[in-house]
Amino acid sequence: MTGDALYLDDSYMKEWETEVAKADKKFIVLDKTAFYPKSGGQPWDTGEMVRVSDGMVFKVVFVGKFGGNISHEVDNEGLKEGEKVKCRIDWDRRYRLMRMHTAAHVLSGVIENETGALITGNQLGTDHSRVDLNLEDFDKEKLIEYIKMSNDFIKKDLPIKVSYVPREEAIKDKSLFKLAGVDPESMLPPSVKNIRIVDIVGLIKEADGGTHVKSLKEIGEIKFERAENKGKNNRRVYFTLQ
Ligand SMILES: [Zn+2]
Repeated sequence: MTGDALYLDDSYMKEWETEVAKADKKFIVLDKTAFYPKSGGQPWDTGEMVRVSDGMVFKVVFVGKFGGNISHEVDNEGLKEGEKVKCRIDWDRRYRLMRMHTAAHVLSGVIENETGALITGNQLGTDHSRVDLNLEDFDKEKLIEYIKMSNDFIKKDLPIKVSYVPREEAIKDKSLFKLAGVDPESMLPPSVKNIRIVDIVGLIKEADGGTHVKSLKEIGEIKFERAENKGKNNRRVYFTLQ
């Protein structure tokens, strides 16, 4: 099988060796990859592939999912099918995004518990992230309070468990799908037989393909930046980490 996504089961993998499965100029599919492709509001990983035979370095500038494959755009042509490469992720960037991603789940978990509101979108960044929520009331003070409550959960250092549930079983449990107004069947390609579940034990459990930290303390502290009213039932909250 080509294009195995190693980050799904080990979000802390930073280096690995693999083979080029397909090469089309600067676009490379690897036999196995831990480079995260742009998806679910989490940006792609950057890093490098070093060709084992001659030590030539190819920088990874973009990673996306195309036609069921994880495709890596590198800065130079030259890699060929079957060549061995050593891969390395820019770990500072990825780790920051992991902390941001888990932080976004904590915040949306608190807001869902307090108000029933669900996420309508999110965009994670290394310095600033945002979540959009279908919150009825726009109350900045309340949002600040939800962030305080999120930080209390972080202090409790709840564990985070990743597991898989058969598709038919997962689909029946609507609470696992947190994107407001989106039918899970339409979101999941038919090839997906098992649904990955990210469970911040005791707070929020949801279907998710992102990379997360192992325990909440790794997040540090969530800091409120600002809130925007994006129209009826759409509130945008910006936050950073300390
Ligand atoms: Zn997520």
